[in-house]
Amino acid sequence: MASERIMLSRVHLGGTEQKYIEEAFADDWVVPLGPHVDQFEHRLERYLDVPAVVALSAGTAAIHLGLVLLGVKQGDEVICQSMTFAASCNPIVYQGATPVFVDSEPDTMNMDPVMLERAIVERHRITGRYPKAIIPVDLYGMPCRIDEINAIADAYGIPVLEDAAEALGSEYDGRKCGSSSVFGALSFNGNKMITTSGGGALVCHDEETAGRAKFYATQARENRAYYYHETIGYNYRLSNISAAIGCGQMDVLPERVNRRRQIRKLYADMLSDCPHIKVQDNPDSRFNSNFWLSTISFDDITRHTPDDLRLYLAEDNIESRLMWRPMHMQPVFADAPYYGSDVSDRLFNSGLCLPSGSSLSDSDIERVADRIKCFFKQR
Ligand SMILES: *Cc1c(COP(=O)(O)O)cnc(C)c1O
Repeated sequence: MASERIMLSRVHLGGTEQKYIEEAFADDWVVPLGPHVDQFEHRLERYLDVPAVVALSAGTAAIHLGLVLLGVKQGDEVICQSMTFAASCNPIVYQGATPVFVDSEPDTMNMDPVMLERAIVERHRITGRYPKAIIPVDLYGMPCRIDEINAIADAYGIPVLEDAAEALGSEYDGRKCGSSSVFGALSFNGNKMITTSGGGALVCHDEETAGRAKFYATQARENRAYYYHETIGYNYRLSNISAAIGCGQMDVLPERVNRRRQIRKLYADMLSDCPHIKVQDNPDSRFNSNFWLSTISFDDITRHTPDDLRLYLAEDNIESRLMWRPMHMQPVFADAPYYGSDVSDRLFNSGLCLPSGSSLSDSDIERVADRIKCFFKQR
């Protein structure tokens, strides 16, 4: 019989979700919005130490609303980290704006501040205008260099929207990812740090901005007795039942973050004598990743590639995944400007994401590590 399946990042319920859902049912709060949305938002605010969080239907909706609030429109340019999931930059196109992609730096796999500044200066030289916003990402939970990125952005007067969809619980210099820029975006999709079965949130820094986010997220209805609209709105709010699941997940969030960090440490220890690969670690003490996914990089891809290892693990019913393929290498964004060299390209070609779900046991991790060692011994 085949070995039991080990998945990349499985939903991990805490046990209290049902209790919150029953509360919601008991009071007929089976609607969009309701008391659990408020509770979920307040608990995220306390966790992130920010004044206002707006719960939304998806992380993608959070990024889109952030761009709407920043006034991004047709003809504008928005800078985005190239190495990421397409949801980071698709909303730029929803607004009729053009994405400008920036390369990563090797240590964090995130936006290279030097390339960022080069892109800003160059776009201004070519178009006569500065990009309207900057979207760095905390890939796989690893914080980007948000202090340097914010400083460069401030110098040119450009707002930053941090895509922290994968980084709930990660910290840079003691501050939670998603909390240090004009906006932060979070995701509660099924495979993220916590789930609401589908959902997201926009992190704001004042009540007024959060109020405007809620206004746009509920069809931009003006405050009148009848439906009256002066602007285009969206249906982006989180349902109360989804938020109830989120409340249950908040009960266990710190445990989940600890477990993902332990899993990375287990891989690092078990694979320390494997000469061909490196397990990603925090570059220095300012970085404290949640290690949403543990990633490895190959030092030499001429003899064997990450995809060879992926297929080898799959034979043993172990799911792994290749890295996010950079956006400047995607056919749909072939015409978008790109600033950088081949760093993200090389990261994509030499890396692999390992099973990292917080429900995995130590022996599951050992099974994965043993297979990886076998793979390299055979070759
Ligand atoms: C998951 C993810 C998103 C989108 O979140 P959804 O809730 O799935 O819409 C955006 N950016 C990154 C980097 C992600 O991993």
